Amino acid sequence: MYKTVLEMRNIWKSFSGNVVLRDVNFTVRLGEVHGILGENGAGKSTLMKILMGIYSKDSGTLLLDGEEVDIQSPKQALELGISMIHQELNPVLDLSIAENVFLGKEITKYGLVQYKEMQRQALEIIERVGLSVPTKQTMRGLSIAQMQQVEIAKALSWNAKVMIMDEPTASLTEREIDALFHIIRQMTEKGISVIYITHKIEELFRICNRVTVLRNGEYIATEEISETNRDHLISLMVGREIGEIYPKEDVDIGEVVLEVENLSVDNVLSDVSFYARKGEILGVAGLVGAGRSELMETIFGLRTPSSGQIRIHGEPISITSPRTALKNKMAFVTEDRKVTGLNLIAPLRENITLVTVRQFVENLRINKKKETDASNLYIDRLGIKTDSCESQVKDLSGGNQQKVVIAKWLLADPDIIIMDEPTRGIDVGAKRDIYLLMGELVKQGKTIILISSEMPEVLGMSDRLMVLSGGKVMGVLDRNKFEQQKIMDMQFGAVYH
Ligand code: ADP
Ligand code: MG
Repeated sequence: MYKTVLEMRNIWKSFSGNVVLRDVNFTVRLGEVHGILGENGAGKSTLMKILMGIYSKDSGTLLLDGEEVDIQSPKQALELGISMIHQELNPVLDLSIAENVFLGKEITKYGLVQYKEMQRQALEIIERVGLSVPTKQTMRGLSIAQMQQVEIAKALSWNAKVMIMDEPTASLTEREIDALFHIIRQMTEKGISVIYITHKIEELFRICNRVTVLRNGEYIATEEISETNRDHLISLMVGREIGEIYPKEDVDIGEVVLEVENLSVDNVLSDVSFYARKGEILGVAGLVGAGRSELMETIFGLRTPSSGQIRIHGEPISITSPRTALKNKMAFVTEDRKVTGLNLIAPLRENITLVTVRQFVENLRINKKKETDASNLYIDRLGIKTDSCESQVKDLSGGNQQKVVIAKWLLADPDIIIMDEPTRGIDVGAKRDIYLLMGELVKQGKTIILISSEMPEVLGMSDRLMVLSGGKVMGVLDRNKFEQQKIMDMQFGAVYH
C-alpha cells in the first residue's frame, strides 16, 4: 500500500472571472516523484502556488498527512514541510548564500544576527546537495544550477516533506540535469515527495513515478509512468491524437536542389556527402557534438570548409558568407539566434524585415507602410499572436518569437530552408503550427533541412533522415526504413549500409 502525503481535492481558481483551475484533483504519495504535465497556460504553476499559499483557492480541500490544512502564506507552507523551487529562481541576488538559506529564520543572539554561525551552518546545509562554495559569497556569483541547489538545500533545511520543482531543467545543461536528478533520487530515498512540473515528456520517463496531466485548467488523468507511453501522454496533454501532431502530408518530391560532396572542416566534419530535393524534408539527427549545426553553418557560409564542394541546382558554388548563401536562396532558422538574432526590444515589424530590409528602402529611407504590410501578411500567415506589428518581440511567447524568426526568413523567399531545432522549448500548439507551415512550404516546392534532437519530431516530419556521428555521415534512411533503435545505434557510431 502506498501512503498518501498530500491531497488536493476539487480545487477551483479564477483570476478576474477567468477560470484557470476547474475541479482539479491531485494526490502525492510518500517518496514519489509526481510529474505535472501540461502545455503553457494549463494551470500547473497556479495549482502549485495554491499549495504554497501564494494564491488562495476559490474552493476545494487540501489534506496533508490526512488532515485538512488551510495554507495562507508561503511561510506557513514551509513550516508544514512544503517548499517550492520556482520557475524563475528568485533568490535575493545581493544576499550572501548564508543569508539566503536562513531567510525568514535568521540565527540571532541577543537580538543580533549571527553571521558566522549562519555561514557555518549554511555550508553544512548546501553540502547535503553536493555544493561546496563559500557561503559568505553572494548568490549573484553562482550559476543557475548552483542557485537551484542552494534553493533545494534551503527547502531541505525546513524539513521538507513535499518539494515542488517548477520546470527546473529549463536552463540547465545535460550534466547539470543529471546532477539534479541525482539529488532528486537521494531525496525520495529519504521519503521526501517531489512534485515535478514540466512540459518535457522525456524527463517524466527519466525521473517520475506517476504523472498528472492538466489541460486548459482541467484535470485530465493520473498515470503510472511504467504503464503509459509518450504518445499517449502527448494526446492527453494536447487533446489530439499523435498523427494530428505531426501532420505529415504527401508531397511530390522533385529534382536534387542541394548537393554536398566530401565536405570537411578541420576537427569537426569529415567527408560529408548528401543531397536534398525539391519538396523534401531532410531530417538530420545526431547527438550533441555530432557536427549537425557545424555542417549547416558551413553550408551557410559561417565556417570555412577545408575541402569539399557544394552545388545548388547542379552549379558548383562557393559560399563564403551568409550573404552569398542568401543570394543563393538559402535561409537558416537558427536555434540560438546566433546568426541573426531577434532584437527583443524592437517591434515585430523591424524583426520580420531584418533580413530583407533592402527591399523596403526607397530614396534612402525605409518605407514603413510597406514594412507594415509585409509584416502583417506574415503575422497573419503564421498565426503569430500579437496585438500589432509594433509590439515588442520580448512580449511574445517563445513559440510566437520563433514564428517571427521564421517569418523573417520566409520574406526572403528562400528555396532551401535550414531549420536548427525549430521547436525547442515551445509549447505543443505552436509546434504544430510550425509543422503545418513546414508542410505548406514543401508543397510550394521548397526544400527543408530539419535538424532536431527530438526523435519523434524528425521521425514524424522527415522524408529521409541523415544520421551524423563524430562529424561523419553514418547513413541516410528513407521514411519507410525509420526505426528508432537503428537510428540510436547510428547516432552512437554504427554505420548503416
Ligand atoms: P502553466 O504553469 O501551466 O503554464 P499557469 O498556472 O501559469 O500555467 O497559468 C494558467 C492560466 O492562469 C494562464 O491563462 C495564466 O495567464 C493565468 N494566470 C496565472 N497567474 C495569473 C495571475 N496572477 N493573474 C491573472 N491570470 C493568471
Ligand atoms: Mg508555469
